[in-house]
Amino acid sequence: MTYAARSIVWMVIYLLFIFLPLFALLTGSLPPARGFWTEFSAALGYSGLAIMGLQFGLTARFRFVTEPWGEDVIYHFHRRISLFAVALVVVHPLIMFSVHPELLAFPQYGEVPWGAVFAFLSVFSLLALVVTALSRAKLRIPYELWHITHVALAIIAVTGGLLHMVGWGFYLADPWKRSLWIALTIFWIALVFYVRVVKPLFILRRPYRVQEVRRERGDTTTLVMRPDGHTGFRFKPGQFGWLTVWGSPFKITAHPFSFSSSAATSDGHVEISIRNLGDFTREINKVPVGQRVYLDGPYGAFTIGNPADMHVLIAGGVGITPMMSMIRTLADVGDKRAVVLLYGSQDWDSITFREELEKLKARLGLTVVHVLSEPPVGWTGERGFITAEVLMRHLPKPYADHEYFICGPAVMMDAIERGLGELGVPMSKYHSERYSFV
Ligand SMILES: Cc1cc2nc3c(=O)[nH]c(=O)nc-3n(C[C@H](O)[C@H](O)[C@H](O)COP(=O)(O)OP(=O)(O)OC[C@H]3O[C@@H](n4cnc5c(N)ncnc54)[C@H](O)[C@@H]3O)c2cc1C
Repeated sequence: MTYAARSIVWMVIYLLFIFLPLFALLTGSLPPARGFWTEFSAALGYSGLAIMGLQFGLTARFRFVTEPWGEDVIYHFHRRISLFAVALVVVHPLIMFSVHPELLAFPQYGEVPWGAVFAFLSVFSLLALVVTALSRAKLRIPYELWHITHVALAIIAVTGGLLHMVGWGFYLADPWKRSLWIALTIFWIALVFYVRVVKPLFILRRPYRVQEVRRERGDTTTLVMRPDGHTGFRFKPGQFGWLTVWGSPFKITAHPFSFSSSAATSDGHVEISIRNLGDFTREINKVPVGQRVYLDGPYGAFTIGNPADMHVLIAGGVGITPMMSMIRTLADVGDKRAVVLLYGSQDWDSITFREELEKLKARLGLTVVHVLSEPPVGWTGERGFITAEVLMRHLPKPYADHEYFICGPAVMMDAIERGLGELGVPMSKYHSERYSFV
């Protein structure tokens, strides 16, 4: 099945998961109708909860689900649709309280029904979840701590929402309807169990050993890894995996990294090139040879494969890693189509893989255009940043015939995507991998 057909199938399944439980509420024995705003508010609450529950499916890293879009698009959707669901859930009590102000009087009687307590817990967890997700960097919350809290708050929010529904009992008088919603919630939470317990068990049984630790230009270290006691996996050039170096796959410490090696090798060995950018990446050059590591992959849709007259690879900084895998693979399979690499780096000495790229020119139709933001004295090449003008100077027309791959800092990617639009390149012709989807 093509990616387009698969994406339609998954979208239909997604919508069914949201709408079927809602429509199920309208079948069987129904309570007497209440005013429009009360019913509307209840519908918002139910819809918000159904969408929230499905977030566990979106982030469960099911390869067959995420493949047609790529992980970054799925995470982007997860963020946007969560905000929408939280808005629905928050508007639900606001409408209820304005239509039925007497509900606010409960605490004075000291008789808060347990359904209301769980509603409060659910909404409070959702708000905490949104604030910590949107302001993680500003609040300086370490990634691992944030991730654990994020999952815990999500479980509390969804379970609280369900208990509120059951406690209130409206629309759920029929046991089968109650069972349906309870089963749905158990399914959502089982997805977390799958991701955090079952999947790590599989990864634990398929470890890798570090065979070589190679220093590269640009404060980057390459880990060469071999499968230990199994045959490894096959990946497409441009895909990535989740790497755990210290600790077991059960810990929330896996980091995403593109594979930088050729995908055309048959011995299962895989390389990842990591730039020193923070707590985890800083320690990578200290990994001893022989260290046991875990790799969960491959993931992502940022891969070559479509028919194209030439591949245009646009990389900024460490965004070179998936491009390197593409170039090495094309060289290994003897693909003679033209490849133009536009590669933005800070200065001449920090160009990761500089020497190897020079050598690879002899093995495939590769043109490398270095763009330096701090060029040395006497530099006659491109300087500054990669822009639409730089593309126009180095690419043959018609621009819309080539296949484009973009990976680098977010500002660079935004500018290039805008530039390609101005050059008349349709969106279907360019592919992006964003390194900041979480
Ligand atoms: C699909 C993809 C492919 C990538 N490929 C490469 C690559 O080939 N080479 C490379 O050097 N970098 C790559 N990165 C970026 C790399 O994952 C981050 O630089 C690294 O995780 C930062 O970790 P840190 O603890 O050193 O930095 P920190 O300063 O602690 O974190 C910096 C930011 O990185 C993100 N981050 C930190 N920990 C995690 C985690 N466990 N999971 C997810 N994100 C996290 C967070 O947004 C955090 O704010 C890739 C990222 C993605 C999403």
